Amino acid sequence: MMSSRRYALKASDVTLCALVCLAGVAVTALVLILFVGSEQRTVSVAFQLEVDERFSRLQRRFNTQVLKLDVVRRFFINADDVTEKEFLGFVTPLVGEDEAYSWVPRILEKDLQAFRTKALLNGTSDFSYHEINPVTGEIVPLASRPEHWILLYLLKRDDVKIIPGMDVLARPGRQALMSKARETHQIVVSEPLKMTNGQSGVFFVAPVFHESSEATLNDDGLQGFVVSTVRLASLMEQGIPLPSLQRLNVTLSLIDGEHQGPTIYQSLAPATPSTLYAQRLLKVADQNYLLQFRPSSTFLVANSHALYTSLIVVFGAGLTLLMTLLVYLLITQRTRALSLVEERTQDLRLLNITDHLTGVYNRRYFEELMERLLIEANAQYQPLSLIMFDIDHFKYINDRWGHQCGDNVLKSLCTRIRSATRKTDLLCRTGGEEFALICPGSELDDTRLLAEKLRALISTLPFDETGQVTCSFGVATWVPSESFDAFVRRADSAMYSAKSKGRDQVQLADS
Ligand code: GH3
Ligand code: MG
Ligand code: MG
Repeated sequence: MMSSRRYALKASDVTLCALVCLAGVAVTALVLILFVGSEQRTVSVAFQLEVDERFSRLQRRFNTQVLKLDVVRRFFINADDVTEKEFLGFVTPLVGEDEAYSWVPRILEKDLQAFRTKALLNGTSDFSYHEINPVTGEIVPLASRPEHWILLYLLKRDDVKIIPGMDVLARPGRQALMSKARETHQIVVSEPLKMTNGQSGVFFVAPVFHESSEATLNDDGLQGFVVSTVRLASLMEQGIPLPSLQRLNVTLSLIDGEHQGPTIYQSLAPATPSTLYAQRLLKVADQNYLLQFRPSSTFLVANSHALYTSLIVVFGAGLTLLMTLLVYLLITQRTRALSLVEERTQDLRLLNITDHLTGVYNRRYFEELMERLLIEANAQYQPLSLIMFDIDHFKYINDRWGHQCGDNVLKSLCTRIRSATRKTDLLCRTGGEEFALICPGSELDDTRLLAEKLRALISTLPFDETGQVTCSFGVATWVPSESFDAFVRRADSAMYSAKSKGRDQVQLADS
């Protein structure tokens, strides 16, 4: 009789689990977005700081170069006839690695011979006037021109041989640069030129005009030039770590009027694709440069938040899974509990309405059933019949075979009757060995026949242990508007009438 049910999840429960899961995913995504946003701002600030630091370092480097050259220029302006020894003594402390300083005096053609004699007398190392053929690169004698710019003193750190006495005017690139310095009276900076050691370098040229010498109509009083050259890469990279450790990719471009000119320097650390970018304008003497900064992979790795991002994802996913599992467990536990309560309630109700010995309905439920069926029969004009029966001489059975055998008779009798009646016929035990069979929808005649059939079924087939058992039957059909008590009493009377008439028989009630 006890039933067991399956604990099925409802659609609403599945929806709830899905919602919890979604909420977990949403919260994780939100945290991730906020974190990544703030990280990106931090990285951007770090990049700007790095760029500012690098830019000011480069600006200082370039400016120092100009300042040093200006110092040498002042030395030449203030001193008359600087000897080679004085030049070397003054300039040596200023010359760094990858740098060179030179003094290029201007000598009129007519003074060439006298100048050389005087210079040698003043202790200048031996030199011979010459120039370099710009096409063939060969050393050739001086061409005849009104004035010459002779490379006379030279201090450099590398060991590339340069013979003093070369006329710079024969080299078109340098001549243009120096002419510009002469015209503007300012320090000028060259575009990167090939230096004597073959590397790319920047030339800083300062014109020297004696303050005392007065410019005449034909002569501007130019004494010569001090020139410093610096290897471009050294300018850009001094104090910068190995390429693999460089955090920025730097390019240096010329500015051609308003437009960006050719790129003249590119740092060794390659740029990594990123939205981070900064540019600065670098002004050095008369030259404007564009500095462009991009992060290198070293920078991006150092500022990477991938680890924290994946930690958030893993933690969020784990928490979401845990929460969903918890809600799922709570829901299934609740569903289980509810099903169990329902099951137990039904079991209790069944216990409440059945006779524990025979399993048929008990007296209390018989009354409840009858009341309900009477209302239905009344409303639907349906017939309702009742068979009441009682085992004959049951006391004797008990006395003769024992109470246990009596109980077995009661059980077997109920089994027999139930097997011979319809599902709609309701068997109740109304007393010790008294039963009622309610037959909804049955007329009196059919019910009488059924009672006869049951009587025969009991009396003709002997019971185990006890042998033949008989019953006396009373049959009644409900008369409209008849009360429950009256109806039952009539059936009962018919049954007692069967007893008195000799038992093992069916009697009809009077209507
Ligand atoms: P009659 O033919 O007149 O009905 O005689 P009877 O002996 O069957 O009737 P009586 O009322 O004198 O006795 C009924 C007996 O049924 C008395 C009681 O001990 C017995 N009885 C009642 N309930 C049970 C039960 O649950 N089990 C058993 N074994 N006996 C029961
Ligand atoms: Mg009896
Ligand atoms: Mg009795």
